[in-house]
Amino acid sequence: MEKEKILRSCADCGVMNCLNRNSKYPEFCPTTELTEEEIEQVVNLYINSRINKKVAVAAAEIEGEFYGKYTRVEEIIEFARRIGAKKIGIATCVGLMEESRIFARILRLNGFEVYGIGCKVGSCNKTDIGVREEYTCITGKVMCNPIMQAKLLAKAKVDLNVVVGLCVGHDSLFYKYAKGLTTTLITKDRMLAHNPAGALYQARAYYKKLLHAPVGADLDRSKLSPGADTEDKE
Ligand code: SF4
Repeated sequence: MEKEKILRSCADCGVMNCLNRNSKYPEFCPTTELTEEEIEQVVNLYINSRINKKVAVAAAEIEGEFYGKYTRVEEIIEFARRIGAKKIGIATCVGLMEESRIFARILRLNGFEVYGIGCKVGSCNKTDIGVREEYTCITGKVMCNPIMQAKLLAKAKVDLNVVVGLCVGHDSLFYKYAKGLTTTLITKDRMLAHNPAGALYQARAYYKKLLHAPVGADLDRSKLSPGADTEDKE
């Protein structure tokens, strides 16, 4: 039987010659497939856009200056300062309000104006958008509303959005509808104290099941829609 062909990419790379330039690029390397023109076009996006340039330079300088010295909280504050942000928008999960309150206090201490929006804003029902009743028993009736969070933060004219612990997928919609720049302070992982990398660090130990069987192999998926469906068709 013919072995299924695996699509190889940077996710499979062990040499990272794009970083070190002291060995050979692997045969599947995207760098080797780029033309000079394609590279130049993208570099020009950093050079010719005032915002792109400011953001990219600030990010690189913060990495260079505070490497191994600053936490992400401190890096976000420094980043906000260097791009000239005055008003910070927090898109928070209601399960992380305590973290958001502390973050808001720290931001204010650093001279920023803060405007936060919780994920349940608008207080709409999950069933109104098609979530089945049985899925509301444990987590409640009120839906997370990342589109409203994005719209209200845009209306408040914040200079930088910061995501604090939005759920997987709710964060996708927030990023889709957010205006301007967004960075993430906390990526929610209810099992790992919001440290999703923990599952990967432990993938050869306590989470080795992840490398041995597909996630949820025993679930009945007959009611789920098949195939990728990630864009509205016009
Ligand atoms: S660009 Fe090429 S060398 Fe760099 S990580 Fe990807 S595959 Fe590896």
